Amino acid sequence: MVEIRELHKSYGDLHVLQGLSLDVAEGEVVCLIGASGSGKSTLLRCINRLETWDAGSIAVNGDLIGYRSSERGGVPVLKELKAREVRKQRAEIGMVFQHFNLFPHLTVMENLVEAPVNVAGVPRREAVATAEQLLAMVGLAEKAKSYPRHLSGGQQQRVAIARALAMKPRLMLFDEPTSALDPELVKEVLHAMKQLAETGMTMVVVTHEMTFAREVAGRVAFVDGGQIVEVGPPEQVLDNPTHPRAQAFLSRLV
Ligand code: ADP
Ligand code: MG
Repeated sequence: MVEIRELHKSYGDLHVLQGLSLDVAEGEVVCLIGASGSGKSTLLRCINRLETWDAGSIAVNGDLIGYRSSERGGVPVLKELKAREVRKQRAEIGMVFQHFNLFPHLTVMENLVEAPVNVAGVPRREAVATAEQLLAMVGLAEKAKSYPRHLSGGQQQRVAIARALAMKPRLMLFDEPTSALDPELVKEVLHAMKQLAETGMTMVVVTHEMTFAREVAGRVAFVDGGQIVEVGPPEQVLDNPTHPRAQAFLSRLV
């Protein structure tokens, strides 16, 4: 479902992604781990086309969503998608950030139906029915009429997950979804994500929650210096890493 090939991206002189390649199969959950600054968030933003890049390609659902190459006489060429194509692509990808960014002036229900109705043109009645199902799935059926400020951080993040799902994405990206939460609220969010994984959703999750990675991820990928230096089943990467940087990173976590 996701095919990333030799991705390079720099911010000025800072070469953040250095030829990163990754495949994610349909229905697979891949956890990305790695030190702060290694390029994990940048990678997710590229997949979602919130960033452009300098070389390499990303395909999602078989559509090449962009590439740059130096093949034409050394001149980098970017296949620019039309704005409409980028929007269509993005609609198939849901993203959940560390900070939930709910619309504060809208109720939980309105947060969930806003994009389906106004962006995707879904009839309101249908959007409401979908939202009710999603709120039930994340355990917040009773909070439809509440405003975000009256919810705990964990509840707000579960609303953010439901809101992303309301657009019926085929791929979900999570960027440290629990790292801004008080420890006692982490579990309920991970539980909602685990349930989502069990529905067969394809997910790429940046997280330092090793229990979640162990229980839910099909594979864990360790990012270092803008590359994936180790990838495999959780028990292999987390318990018997072979790359020295992965060994050092993981030994610091325990
Ligand atoms: P991670 O998510 O693994 O912590 P990031 O992808 O956020 O890493 O960042 C990788 C590097 O790129 C960091 O050194 C960060 O400071 C830098 N960086 C990220 N975004 C920008 C930006 N918009 N402009 C300049 N530098 C950035
Ligand atoms: Mg990050």
